[in-house]
Amino acid sequence: MSVLVFVDNSEGSIKKAGFEAVYYGSKTAKLLGSDCIVCTYGEIDNAILAALGNYGASKVVLAKNIKTNDNQVLTRFVSEVADKNNADTIIFPMGPTGRSVAPRVAIRQNAGMVSGVIAFPDIANGFSVKRNVFSGKAQGNYKINAAKRVLGIMGNAFPIEAGDGQASVEEWNGDAGASKVKVLEVKKAGGSVPLPEAERVVSGGRGMKGPENWGMIEELATLLNAQTACSRPVADMDWRPHHEHVGQTGIAIRPDLYIAIGISGAIQHLAGVNGSKVIVVVNTDPEAPFFKAADYGIVGDAFEVLPKLIASAKEFNASK
Ligand SMILES: Cc1cc2nc3c(=O)[nH]c(=O)nc-3n(C[C@H](O)[C@H](O)[C@H](O)COP(=O)(O)OP(=O)(O)OC[C@H]3O[C@@H](n4cnc5c(N)ncnc54)[C@H](O)[C@@H]3O)c2cc1C
Repeated sequence: MSVLVFVDNSEGSIKKAGFEAVYYGSKTAKLLGSDCIVCTYGEIDNAILAALGNYGASKVVLAKNIKTNDNQVLTRFVSEVADKNNADTIIFPMGPTGRSVAPRVAIRQNAGMVSGVIAFPDIANGFSVKRNVFSGKAQGNYKINAAKRVLGIMGNAFPIEAGDGQASVEEWNGDAGASKVKVLEVKKAGGSVPLPEAERVVSGGRGMKGPENWGMIEELATLLNAQTACSRPVADMDWRPHHEHVGQTGIAIRPDLYIAIGISGAIQHLAGVNGSKVIVVVNTDPEAPFFKAADYGIVGDAFEVLPKLIASAKEFNASK
């Protein structure tokens, strides 16, 4: 038996979520007394793949002949690699590709599936994993009874450690079939780091009064090496682009630091941000619900507090 981890190819590199999934896979393999095998596709340097051994992979299967991230093609590829390597546990990072391919693979493999997993499995009594439920208000513990399992791993849910292993790289020459869709155009969202991977996020809500005031949010974000985000009404009113909208209907993020300025903390907003490690809230209303979820709260006017935070960040950066 083995543990198989799918990692996405991001223009010839592997993103943080991929390393996390491999680390998760290797820890799970150790618990189960099996090997951790990784599979990916497209053009990617062999040295990058071999270095996945640092996170515990023993072998990487590369399908160079797959040049698309079409969900159905990747489903056939992952499922075939799983069969060939006798995988009883298949792991996906919860990015857009993983979200689409994981359930399809689970159907093909007749596996039990849990997505949004936030902790290493407990195998003391079968195989169970934890995930957030009710928009993060509670945690559910799920036991998978099927002989095979598919897990979707939540990003930034646990720290990873790199060792100094090397994985062997094997080329896959199978046939995953033709793609039924053709990508005509890819438009990239702005920001140097995609929001789900950001370690620090500075976010603004309707309390910022208008798009003309976002300069302060951007300045603080730049000083903290953070990305910017916003609440849904802010994106709906076109104050900010939609790819910055976080929450239940937007992007779910789990940064190390989330600074929420002029955001009330409605449950639909919290659903996307309450996995953040440290939450700082700035709001004029001491009764704003966000304060209940905050690690640090400042009751104050954003237009007075932000300039002070910016000045302190400048002072701190200058002292480094
Ligand atoms: C099905 C559904 C899905 C939804 N999905 C999402 C989602 O994914 N993400 C999301 O964000 N919302 C979502 N919403 C909307 C959500 O319910 C809230 O309406 C929204 O989050 C409120 O945005 P806000 O906090 O920016 O605005 P408001 O609720 O208007 O809050 C503004 C806050 O700013 C404070 N404030 C005002 N002036 C200042 C100042 N000068 N300085 C500091 N603070 C100030 C106020 O005290 C207030 O707390 C969803 C709603 C529904 C029904």
